[in-house]
Amino acid sequence: MPTPPSADVLAALREFVARLDELDPEAPLVGELTLGLAGATERLPLRAPVARALTEALRGYHDPRDRGRCAHCAGPLDDDFVCRSCGIVNGLFGRTVAAFATPAEGEEEARGIAGVDRPDGTLND
Ligand SMILES: [Zn+2]
Repeated sequence: MPTPPSADVLAALREFVARLDELDPEAPLVGELTLGLAGATERLPLRAPVARALTEALRGYHDPRDRGRCAHCAGPLDDDFVCRSCGIVNGLFGRTVAAFATPAEGEEEARGIAGVDRPDGTLND
C-alpha cells in the first residue's frame, strides 16, 4: 500500500530538518515549523540553516508543467506557448510553431505541414 502524500511530506521535512540540524546543532533557532496534515500536527525546530535551505529550495523549484509567462499580460502559457489568459502565441518559438500550424493570410495551407517541397522525404544532402 503506497504511503499517503501527507505522510511523505512530514517524513521528508522531518528528515531534512534532522539532516541539517545534525551539521550545526548550535545554529540559532529562528522559529518553529508547524505542519498539520491528515489530522496530525507536527512541530519542528526551525534553525537558520534550515530556513535558508527551505527558502532557496522553494524559490528555486521549477515545475515541469510551467511553460513561462505571457509577454503581453503575464498569464500562464500552455504546452504550445499560447497564453491561457489572452490567447496570444508567445516568443519566437511559439510564433514559429503557430506559423507552421496556421495558414498565413493568402496561403491555402500551413507552411511545413503539407505540400512540402521534398517529394522523396529527404533533405537533399
Ligand atoms: Zn497573455
